Amino acid sequence: MTDPEGRTTVIDPGTTASPPSADRTFQPSAEFAANANLTAEAPNLLIIGPQGAGKGTQAILLAERLNIPHISTGDVFRANAQARTQLGLECQRYMDAGELVPDSLTTNMVAHRLAKPDTKDGFLLDGFPRTVPQAGALDDLLGGQRRLTAVLVLLTPNHVVLQRMSIRGRRDDTLEAIQRRLDLYHCETTPLLERYSRLLVAVDGVGTVHDVHERIWTALAAFLRDRPNSLTNAEAVGGINQPMNDECDNCGPGHPPR
Ligand code: ADP
Repeated sequence: MTDPEGRTTVIDPGTTASPPSADRTFQPSAEFAANANLTAEAPNLLIIGPQGAGKGTQAILLAERLNIPHISTGDVFRANAQARTQLGLECQRYMDAGELVPDSLTTNMVAHRLAKPDTKDGFLLDGFPRTVPQAGALDDLLGGQRRLTAVLVLLTPNHVVLQRMSIRGRRDDTLEAIQRRLDLYHCETTPLLERYSRLLVAVDGVGTVHDVHERIWTALAAFLRDRPNSLTNAEAVGGINQPMNDECDNCGPGHPPR
């Protein structure tokens, strides 16, 4: 596979694990369809939450149950870093420092993934968008053809997140990187909650994996049942597209290059 510039191999854990099938149509389970009154619309979902909120785990479970591809930017970056592809070499130092990978690299990678036919019947994006400019880029990628269905946010207090991080043991889980990622989450990512306020499904992320999953499932079904069908992407996102102020107290001047 080549990256969007056609210059290198991009490892995509999502598609290597389960090859996309172009002709699959979205088949919600009877239980979900009944709960959510889900008819023709494919679920185009985002999941947002701080590191350690458990969003990766919950995203896998939800995507499996909905039978839609789970697209985790962190997983794609890590797979590429491990395989030492061009993309991996470029993103490794940002990940190790807890910095965001530059928007251009990230957005190109997501554009490439969302162009694949297996996303036509729905997808769950995990870890993207993480900044307001990335959200603007996602609007462009979806265009007039696709609209976001719901934006899940896992609410997990800092002390729980820090406790979970201390046992995760990933290569980029140094104290400095953890703190930096939390700062960036609050500074760069939380503005998205306002941007997506009409699509937000907020769920308490504290509890067992099973309990949180059931909470997500029930909340999502309830949201979809009540969601006004006429809401377009532009109406849903409310037009907040300004990048954050570079002098933000938490992030300081070290914002990644855009
Ligand atoms: P975490 O939830 O612990 O931050 P992820 O697996 O989502 O873990 O992301 C790991 C790293 O990958 C991030 O710290 C960041 O460097 C990079 N990354 C993932 N998604 C994005 C994104 N949308 N924009 C920029 N960098 C990203």
